[in-house]
Amino acid sequence: MIAQPPGSHFVGGAYIDCHEGAPLPVQYPATGEVIATLHDATPDLIDQTITAARAAQVGWSEMTGTERGRILRRAADIMRDRNHDLSVLETYDTGKPLSETLVADATSGADALEYFGGLAGSLTGEHIQLGEDWVYTRREPLGLCVGIGAWNYPTQIACWKAAPALACGNAVIFKPSEETPLCALKVAEILVEAGLPAGLFNVLQGRGDVGAALVTDPRVNKVSLTGSVPTGRKVYAAAAAGLKHVTMELGGKSPLIVFDDADIDDAVGGAILGNFYSSGQVCSNGTRVFVHKVIKEAFLTRLTERLATAILGDPHNEATNFGPLVSARQLEIVQGYIAKGQAEGARLVTGGETLDQPGHWITPAVFADVTDDMTIAREEIFGPVMAVLDFEDEEDVITRANATEFGLSAGVFTRDLKRGHRVIAQLQAGSCFINSYNDAPVEAPFGGVKSSGVGRENSKAAIDHYSQLKSVYVRMGHVEAPF
Ligand code: NAD
Repeated sequence: MIAQPPGSHFVGGAYIDCHEGAPLPVQYPATGEVIATLHDATPDLIDQTITAARAAQVGWSEMTGTERGRILRRAADIMRDRNHDLSVLETYDTGKPLSETLVADATSGADALEYFGGLAGSLTGEHIQLGEDWVYTRREPLGLCVGIGAWNYPTQIACWKAAPALACGNAVIFKPSEETPLCALKVAEILVEAGLPAGLFNVLQGRGDVGAALVTDPRVNKVSLTGSVPTGRKVYAAAAAGLKHVTMELGGKSPLIVFDDADIDDAVGGAILGNFYSSGQVCSNGTRVFVHKVIKEAFLTRLTERLATAILGDPHNEATNFGPLVSARQLEIVQGYIAKGQAEGARLVTGGETLDQPGHWITPAVFADVTDDMTIAREEIFGPVMAVLDFEDEEDVITRANATEFGLSAGVFTRDLKRGHRVIAQLQAGSCFINSYNDAPVEAPFGGVKSSGVGRENSKAAIDHYSQLKSVYVRMGHVEAPF
């Protein structure tokens, strides 16, 4: 088991143990046991944190990018050195198996800290010559950025928001999901140990109302949310009232199209990664798997064979490769969708059984003969439920794939290179894959179109979302005024 953290929050470079807010019990999803109890931030603590963060930001923005980057890169090294302990904590916080957390969470957070640490020293404006006059631009920080996280990747989400924000000279207040509040505290500890001055990365716990208080505070300049589309609508609207910058990383119902010339094992592997990694709790999952009619039965047979080898069990045993869902509520939601799939006439090929044991367990489910109008083909489930739909015609499958309000990701499996690029170009999605699924290297922009998001995380593109340009006109001659 893990130790109760020394405080619920991390503010001004130290833990704060304030018990005035509502209790926030933290459950280990594999057993349902309460492993720690934290407390929501109070309005007073929110106010103090904003004041401290804004004060700290001034000095931070005056440092050189190279100095800021050095601290981020040091934090990346510490994260990598502690990967095992951080992964164990991530497994307790989320229930994801250690076989995943060892390679996908602190490591991905460290990548972001290293990448943006490396970029920090090269962030510049530009010089624009206009005859003998000239304009120069200064790339300036936004000020105070608020990050709000979902529960599926608590370490990664904290780092994906903190790293570019800090590299650009901003201060950050991060509110983790109330389901997984532990990991971001470790990120804060590590940043301070790496030399980050106090007050620049703060963690405040709480439910939606704490997030809302941060979003509406006029002293906050930017909000970056990772969450569902309904929450995104509320947070975007609240941020718009204050004309704040936003990044919205929201939900999806992404298409994965398998053509008849695809390598079936690769396509099945992509569909498994895109539906069952992290027990299906991944925003970019390709949950609408369109399989060409000619290969559908072969695809389903191979998929079922491979799913039979999934190992459900103690998430801390490194042989386990499929864990529980994060909460009883999420399990209930997923069970509801499985019942709806069956009621609406889809064929449950395998899985969908709840395990009769403590914790929030359900086996990976595959539905075949799914049609576009069925609920399981339209709504984001955020659990291990794959919908397999048939198709025969390229143009038709593109139209069907795009017939959704979401637009986070899309994938194509085909051996025909021209077709791969032609189809991907027409799919309305921000993060796409050809003969692969769900890769998210820090070097590549990540984010959605349509209702799935606004802005991009990772890559150089994130810099534009955490900084602003000041343009300065310099006149070399005399000023000519009309009177
Ligand atoms: P959620 O929308 O319920 O909550 C997300 C966060 O928003 C939580 O921290 C919550 O406390 C906070 N929140 C809720 N109401 C708020 C309000 N009014 N103001 C401010 N903050 C508020 O999402 P979830 O259930 O935690 O996560 C699952 C969702 O997140 C899925 O839809 C998934 O697709 C999405 N997600 C997206 C990405 C991405 O990068 N695009 C990554 C992971 C998860």
